[in-house]
Amino acid sequence: MAIEKQPYACSLPASPGAEPAQEGTSHGCCAPRPAASTIPCPDCGTEGKPVQPLTLRALLQPNLRADVKEEAYCFCANPDCDLVYFRADGAQTFARADLTVRVGVKERNSPRPLCYCFGHSAESLREEWLRTGKSAILDAVKAEVKAGHCRCDVTNPSGACCLGDLTRELKALAANPPPAPILQGNNPADSTCCRTGEGPGCAC
Ligand SMILES: [Zn+2]
Repeated sequence: MAIEKQPYACSLPASPGAEPAQEGTSHGCCAPRPAASTIPCPDCGTEGKPVQPLTLRALLQPNLRADVKEEAYCFCANPDCDLVYFRADGAQTFARADLTVRVGVKERNSPRPLCYCFGHSAESLREEWLRTGKSAILDAVKAEVKAGHCRCDVTNPSGACCLGDLTRELKALAANPPPAPILQGNNPADSTCCRTGEGPGCAC
C-alpha cells in the first residue's frame, strides 16, 4: 500500500537502491546518515537518528516485522526512554521489548552490547581495559570494518556503525577508570576488600 511521503527531515531514501545522502558520517561499512535528523522522540523529545526500515525488520520480534513500512523511521538513543524506534510521522512506535536484542546504548545495566557484528560490549571493553590498560578491540573492529566484514544495518539497533559507541565508551573508561580488581586468596594486607572491610564477596 502506498503511503504518502511526509516531508520530515529525518527521512531516508524510500527505495533500498536509492542513493544515500552524501553527507553525515560513514565508516565505510554503513550508508552515510543524512546530516539533518531533527525529529524528536515522541516519548522523550530526544532528537531521533534516521534508521532504515530494513534494520527494524531485522531486529524486531518476528510478529512485528510485517508492520514495518517503507517509511522514514528514527532511533531514540536516550537511555532513560523505553522507546527505541518511531516512525517520522509519529504514527508508529516500537519499545525495547519489541526487539530481539538488548539496545546497549540505551542500557545502564549489564550486559550492554555495543558492537553487534563482532560481539563486543561495554563489559568486554572494561575487562580488556582492566587486564591491559588499553583497548585493542577498537583497532580490531576498525580492521574488520575496513575489510567490509560488518553488517551494522541489520545487526545494530541504531542501524549504524558502532565505532562511535565504542569510542565513547573508551573515553568514559579513560575519564573514570574502573578500580583494579580485587585479588582473592592473596595476602590480606594486599587486598582492598580486607583492608577496608568493604568486600562482601571477599574470599581472603
Ligand atoms: Zn525517546
